[in-house]
This record gives sequence, C-alpha cells and structure tokens, in this order.
Amino acid sequence: MDPMEQARHHMVAEQLASRDIQDARVLDAMRRVPRHAFVPAEREHEAYLDRPVPIAEGQTISQPYIVALTAQALQIGPDARVLEIGAGSGYAAAVLAELAREVVTVERHPLLAAEAAARLASLRYGNIWVVTGDGTRGYPERAPYDAIAVTASGPRVPKALLHQLAPGGRMVIPVGPDEHQQELVLVTRGSEDGVFSEQNLGAVRFVPLVGEDGWARADGR
Ligand code: SAH
Repeated sequence: MDPMEQARHHMVAEQLASRDIQDARVLDAMRRVPRHAFVPAEREHEAYLDRPVPIAEGQTISQPYIVALTAQALQIGPDARVLEIGAGSGYAAAVLAELAREVVTVERHPLLAAEAAARLASLRYGNIWVVTGDGTRGYPERAPYDAIAVTASGPRVPKALLHQLAPGGRMVIPVGPDEHQQELVLVTRGSEDGVFSEQNLGAVRFVPLVGEDGWARADGR
C-alpha cells in the first residue's frame, strides 16, 4: 500500500469505524476516495487528519467524520440520485458518487466549481455533474432527488430543497443562527404521506450558505 492509502485506511479505522460510522458501503467509499487529491498541494499532509482543511475562496473541506456521518444518515442506495449543495473541492461529491447512481453538485464560486469539475474528471468520476449557481434554489432540472446533502450552513432549510426531495427521500443540512452555533439536521420525507420530519444529528460548524434562501452576505449575516 502506498503511504497515502495507508493513511486513509488508518483514518477510516481511527476516526470513523471506532466512532459511530458502521455502514460498510460508507466505510468502503471513504477508503476509496483519495482525499489528498482534493486539498491544496501544500496541505497534502493534512488530508487524513481528523479536521477540516482550508481550500480556496476562504472555504473548507469538512472533517472526514462529518462527510461520513452525512453519507451514512442519507442511506444512499446504488440507484439513488443525489443533490449536493456546496461542491467546494468536490471531495464529498466523490464520496456520494461512490454510493449513488448520479450526483449533481451546485457551487456558487465559479473558480471552485471549475476546479472541482476538472479534478473529478481527472479522477474519472463519470456520474457527477458540477453546476455553478445558487444552490438555495436547488437544481430543479434533475429533481426529485432521493438524497440531498447541504455542506454550508443557512438560517433555515431552503424551501426549494424541500420541494425537490422525493417522497421517502432524506436531506442532511447544517442550520443555525450564526457561524458558531449550528446543528446538523436530518430531514426525512414520508414515502406514503410526503410529510417532513426532522432529527438533530449534533452540533457542527460549517461555512455560510450564501444565497437567495440563505445568508445575504459571505460572512453569514
Ligand atoms: N462539500 C465540499 C465542502 C465545501 S464548503 C467539499 O467536500 O470540499 C461549502 C461550499 O458551499 C463552499 O465551497 C461555498 O462556496 C459553497 N456555497 C455556499 N453557499 C452556496 C450556495 N448558495 N450555493 C452553492 N454553493 C454554496
């Protein structure tokens, strides 16, 4: 095994399997995706640590545990169609794409979107579409989605995303009143009645979701 692969297997054992990540498909996906290919070159040595990593435009790749927790809570089957809001580096999209049939990921920063698309293409992910735009509107062109992962935190769950979630679908989104206090919320939509219910997965800290149905400003206000 090369040293990066070894570090990745260590990450899965120490940071995920030893906590509450038990879904074998999620653990396999986390073992497969080369996280070091998604961080800036000068931060490659941080790729498998138990923390978020800064990327361009003042954004961050989430801590591996949070990516895995999100993927596990979404219960993504091999036929699932998934929407991600906040492509960033493309790392979480790659993890989701290991689990699903297809992933659409929306990113508001054109530079990040272009870099993520190029990186995912060079890693031969043929089932991910990177779209530049305001993800608080979702991406109606390919709705409904079986799973939606939002990787930036807003003041509330955007209405458009609720509309684009299929009956029986699941969404994970950080919600909170400011950049310090947020909780990771799991929204499920009943398969028979279409009724939404919410569950709190714990306290988290994400970068702001900036857009029409999110924060008005990049500093999350
Ligand atoms: N999932 C990413 C982490 C990205 S951090 C990864 O694995 O690397 C959150 C991202 O959400 C940032 O890149 C930020 O630019 C983006 N973002 C914030 N508001 C957004 C919006 N309204 N629509 C789309 N992307 C948004």
